[in-house]
Amino acid sequence: MYKLGFVLLLCLGPVEAADLPAAAPVHNRAPLAEGAFYRLPLGSVKPKGWLLDQLRIQSEGITGRLGDFWPDVGSNSAWLGGSGEGWERGPYYMDGLVPLAYLLNDTKLIAKVRPWMEWTLTHQRPDGAIGPAKNQDWWPIMVMLKALTQYQEATGDPRVIPLMEKYFAYQAGMLDSVPLKSWAIYRWQDELASILWLYNRTGDAKLLALANRIKGQGFDWPRLFTGFPFTGKVTREQAKHDSHGVNNAMGLKTAALWYLVSKQASDRAETARIIGVLDQYQGLPNGMFSADEHFAGRNPSQGTELCAVVESMFSLELDLAVLGDAWIGDRLEKIAFNPLPGTQTADLLSHQYDQQPNQVMCSLGRRDWTTNGPDSNLFGLEPNFGCCTANLHQGWPKFAASLWMASADGGLAVGAYAPSEVRTVINGAVVTVTETTDYPFRNRISLVVSAAAPQQFPLHLRIPAWTDHPSMSINGQPVEGIGIGSYKRIDRQWRNGDRMEITFPMPVRLSQGYNGSVSVERGPLVYSLRIGEHWSKLKQTGPVTDWEVYPTSAWNYGLHVDLRNPAAYFEVEEKPMARQPFGDNPPVALKTRARRLPEWVMVDDSAAPPPASPVAMQAKEGEQDQTVTLIPYGAARLRITSFPVLRLEAARP
Ligand SMILES: [Zn+2]
Repeated sequence: MYKLGFVLLLCLGPVEAADLPAAAPVHNRAPLAEGAFYRLPLGSVKPKGWLLDQLRIQSEGITGRLGDFWPDVGSNSAWLGGSGEGWERGPYYMDGLVPLAYLLNDTKLIAKVRPWMEWTLTHQRPDGAIGPAKNQDWWPIMVMLKALTQYQEATGDPRVIPLMEKYFAYQAGMLDSVPLKSWAIYRWQDELASILWLYNRTGDAKLLALANRIKGQGFDWPRLFTGFPFTGKVTREQAKHDSHGVNNAMGLKTAALWYLVSKQASDRAETARIIGVLDQYQGLPNGMFSADEHFAGRNPSQGTELCAVVESMFSLELDLAVLGDAWIGDRLEKIAFNPLPGTQTADLLSHQYDQQPNQVMCSLGRRDWTTNGPDSNLFGLEPNFGCCTANLHQGWPKFAASLWMASADGGLAVGAYAPSEVRTVINGAVVTVTETTDYPFRNRISLVVSAAAPQQFPLHLRIPAWTDHPSMSINGQPVEGIGIGSYKRIDRQWRNGDRMEITFPMPVRLSQGYNGSVSVERGPLVYSLRIGEHWSKLKQTGPVTDWEVYPTSAWNYGLHVDLRNPAAYFEVEEKPMARQPFGDNPPVALKTRARRLPEWVMVDDSAAPPPASPVAMQAKEGEQDQTVTLIPYGAARLRITSFPVLRLEAARP
């Protein structure tokens, strides 16, 4: 039946996602290495619960409407045959709008996607070139290829694979005379992902030769992290492509993807090493590295560009599929649940260029960025520069599509946890697993299997490194031997209606950062001081407002906590789930004890670096700690995330 359906599909041409049968994953072909997991075709994983709401809010927000009022992705785009923008912005927009449209199966969004796909598919030039004729750069085509592969998975459109075959043959013939230049040198690995995608579908060995050639012309990312030159904030003179945040975020996929070609164990080990180096010298408490828009060191008042956030997520999604390491899923969740929502307004209409972990005022001002301008931390349509306006859309949809993966051993694996449903083909039969949860705001997850007949297959469940005494049961029977920070493999005959209950206890943790400051984490969520916000409107473009945000309450608190026993200092408050959990009413908050530090003030419109911890403070007679409220980072548009730690000393007589 499945094969018949596929044949019919080829005859009928493009169809909507809902019409496609469940699809088996496409595995790597020899001589490529086997991945640990395989990403499922777009549409196999459907968001549910709060994540479905998030995608709907996105469709009602900037993503569903951008082409109506922003000319760069409007009807005059050169990617639609017009005379307008013909570089990266149209492809960036499609790289997010395509998965959003098909995950929601939203006919209005699909109608917006179609003209872009049609124009590219019907305007390939006789020599194989694609895209606007005026574009002479390989880079934006690399982005459009990512959109086309997703579109093919969602629709089965039979024109995509021949177009890509012809395009890659054209590029192979051109690379000697027109080599990669500028951005494309640093972003070649994003094309590698599409080359490998096509190779696994056609088996044409010339594609692997092309992969080797673009690697030869491209930047050697792993080498940058041996003797890493950027051990602090880079100067304007140092700021080049290799210190650029978005380039580095894209570069995070290089080693894992190249391992598939090289099969070298050393390539397999590089991803963890590179992220370790980034954390050491550029790491911020929200799981990202500083990039405003070049490496800016670990001061939590430095920023990270939104493009770097979504590109890091996409790189980690590919890395997780290849490597199957649980820590990658932990990091992916940390970025998805904290810096991704924390840099957009709750209505997903306005966004920042640069977000700060310690972000106490968002305003026009001369902040201490490496290279960015005075509007970079405003919430608006295109603060500083419009790349993020075009590129932010991929964040949530690709995350949703990566929640579940196929495992190389014929089963299913959890990439990240969120309410969802996965529908795929295992042992030739359709299997569905429904995940019901309010994770990451709650710690319980239910999985229910649906299958017409019992199926033997392994389920790989990611056990986060931050949990303590996790528990699992299948139909009420406890599962034994659950290791933390690894995958639990459960290979059994799964029957229709089998139910797993999972609990990941989320003790409050303190992680140490810049100047000995601490950040508060619980589960995958980072918590920030709730600061009163006054939103001041600067301008309006279509439905998008540009906002400044000013603090209306104090922010300069140190925490009265003990790193050896953090849980004793925090009280957890659960509240009802809201449609937008990263909005004004987050479903969870923490209360803790703190005192003001009058000497900690603003410098250049940002919070000064947190004073070195521990901060000695004389405990005066009768003076009490204040209780402060911490909320999820993603719900705090003004926030302190890196806190000084107080050391209270008895007053001398
Ligand atoms: Zn950007």
